[in-house]
Amino acid sequence: MKYDVIIVDSGTAGQTAALPLSKAGKKVAVIDDRLPGGTCAMRGCTAKKFFVVNREALDSVRYLQGKGIEELPRPVWTQTLDMKTDFTGSIPEKTRPAFEKAGIDFYEGIAFFTSKQTLSLKKSVHRRGSESSKQSDIFDFEFDDIILACGSDPRIPEIPGIGYTIDSEDFLSLPQLPGRLLTIGAGYIAFEFAHIISSYGGEVTMLDPDLTRDLAASSKKWESILFQKELLHQLKKHFPDCLLQIPAVTDMRLMRYLIQPEGFPGLENLTVLPQG
Ligand SMILES: Cc1cc2nc3c(=O)[nH]c(=O)nc-3n(C[C@H](O)[C@H](O)[C@H](O)COP(=O)(O)OP(=O)(O)OC[C@H]3O[C@@H](n4cnc5c(N)ncnc54)[C@H](O)[C@@H]3O)c2cc1C
Repeated sequence: MKYDVIIVDSGTAGQTAALPLSKAGKKVAVIDDRLPGGTCAMRGCTAKKFFVVNREALDSVRYLQGKGIEELPRPVWTQTLDMKTDFTGSIPEKTRPAFEKAGIDFYEGIAFFTSKQTLSLKKSVHRRGSESSKQSDIFDFEFDDIILACGSDPRIPEIPGIGYTIDSEDFLSLPQLPGRLLTIGAGYIAFEFAHIISSYGGEVTMLDPDLTRDLAASSKKWESILFQKELLHQLKKHFPDCLLQIPAVTDMRLMRYLIQPEGFPGLENLTVLPQG
């Protein structure tokens, strides 16, 4: 099969390219090894917003307590989860006909290059690959142009016991509100999740060798967000039956953090930031 343009990704980037290209008369194919719709809608930006808006509402009311509002509303995690799941579940059903209507062929499977101008599709072995992509027939394609917009997956650190942890996608499908959350890493996704759990009343601990003071300061108002200073101590204190076992500090970035505690002057092993 020959296409003018093949796009690997049915998500935001892929659709943004595919639809206008097809409209302009190009013969376009889109390939993805997951259900069509992409990260943003189904397991990223939009999916998380269902929880984020509740967090914002709770924080607004919390701020207004004693200023005309008496009681804090009770968030119901399962209701939010159901709304989120209804939304995310509908995305592939909307994306497939949108491609079809635009005259775009959509294939589920893993794309790999066989030459500079040719590509093959094979069965996906991704644990989250769609069922169709796991059973995909092998196709060979020729193309004039190709757009690779493969997105990104969480980077899973090689820590013994890491299999007991969950990633952002699992988090957004947790059946119940976790009372305590420990994040390994404190990037923007971890911070957003930390704030969600904190606003819902849970306790959060974040571990990150690169957590800067600026970042910590920006989160001061969330009293229950805790910052760790010493990894092993923290794990023992909060997770006495901890499933994560980190026998030795081998990560240089972590070493740097542990041997330069002056980055957090005056903080002991575990610090509750004062409400600001
Ligand atoms: C929890 C979370 C919250 C986020 N919040 C925000 C936010 O608030 N604002 C924001 O701007 N961004 C946010 N992001 C990031 C945003 O979701 C991504 O940057 C965006 O969705 C990437 O879109 P994309 O189309 O490039 O790739 P994706 O939508 O990730 O799609 C790439 C697809 O390509 C597939 N693929 C990869 N390689 C192959 C191959 N060889 N063959 C076949 N298929 C392949 C992948 O399986 C995937 O389905 C968030 C992400 C997460 C995880």
